[in-house]
Amino acid sequence: MNRVYNFSAGPAVLPEEVLQKAADQMLNYENSGMSVMEMSHRSKTYDRIIKEAEADLRTLMNIPDNYKVLFLQGGGHLQFSMVPLNLMKNKVADYIVTGQWAKKAIKEAGKYLKANKIASSEDKNFTYIPDLNNLEIDPKADYVYICQNNTIYGTKFNDLPDTKGKDLVSDMSSNILSEPIDVSKFALIFAGAQKNIGPAGTTIVIIREDLLTDELPEYCPTMLSYKIHADKDSLYNTPPTYGIYICGLVFKHLLENGGIEAMYKKNLEKANLLYDFLDNSKLFKGTVEKKDRSLMNVTFVTDSEEINARFIKEATESNLVNLKGHRSVGGMRASIYNAMSIEGVKALVEFMGNFERKVLNEG
Ligand SMILES: *Cc1c(COP(=O)(O)O)cnc(C)c1O
Repeated sequence: MNRVYNFSAGPAVLPEEVLQKAADQMLNYENSGMSVMEMSHRSKTYDRIIKEAEADLRTLMNIPDNYKVLFLQGGGHLQFSMVPLNLMKNKVADYIVTGQWAKKAIKEAGKYLKANKIASSEDKNFTYIPDLNNLEIDPKADYVYICQNNTIYGTKFNDLPDTKGKDLVSDMSSNILSEPIDVSKFALIFAGAQKNIGPAGTTIVIIREDLLTDELPEYCPTMLSYKIHADKDSLYNTPPTYGIYICGLVFKHLLENGGIEAMYKKNLEKANLLYDFLDNSKLFKGTVEKKDRSLMNVTFVTDSEEINARFIKEATESNLVNLKGHRSVGGMRASIYNAMSIEGVKALVEFMGNFERKVLNEG
């Protein structure tokens, strides 16, 4: 069967070359006589896989030497707990709430510390990024927290908040590797792999070394200590071995295709195609403020629930799948991560144009 154009928000499309390579290596990885899935995480062969994955990610993101890269489990959600548990000293943190994920993060942090909501865009259903200047940063805040790309709503921080010198923590689950960033501006970055990197089950944490500490609350589970994982090079217990291997293949694929700069160019081209169409459409419209638009998740609606549903149905029949918006927003969402081709976005725009002409003719 033909592969579809998959606009899923996550787990999401992966590069076909990577899937093919994994298929080729499935039964016998580099003459080891076994699949990566069957391999000890303590073996020499696997050690090379995880070390190379880390080295390649460091190259791609230009990660400074004073940062550790951790391959963990538990998804974005476990980071909502690990961040406060590991970073709290004064037991105060400031959160900017720009969507469901930040909302869940502040709620979780509130179990362990005083979590201040210093800005929010909930008044307009998270359709914009709040003003980031003159934030009331708590002088005692251990960190300032953002969710940089709001997967559900289709917004993105194009600027970073002025944290008045406080450490910045960013959930980059849906925008990591999509554009160049300066890692040194962050104390901690985390991302679940299943949006823009690899299969679900692996979570990547990039943390500045001075934040690693043994002085955690006594109730903090050992497995939730960044320092434990850092000291053991992500091999404290059995890591998600196969997921890390696929992430590694994706990193190599990105390096072979021009790295993050090239991805960014392609991502801009894809997003512009779609947003330009939306801005000129008489049927569809984007749902967020233009200056805050995401490059990865494009949210849009028509004026009618019925037409939305018909659009999603007919698009699916044309192999353009997973375009339904998140249940908390409705309408449509096209997630156009790194692995979505320009052809895929062109096919979507063409389909939308045809659909629009058809519907307007009927009306
Ligand atoms: C998907 C997502 C999450 C939740 O990730 P899980 O791996 O399902 O826990 C958190 N933050 C962002 C920005 C996401 O897109």
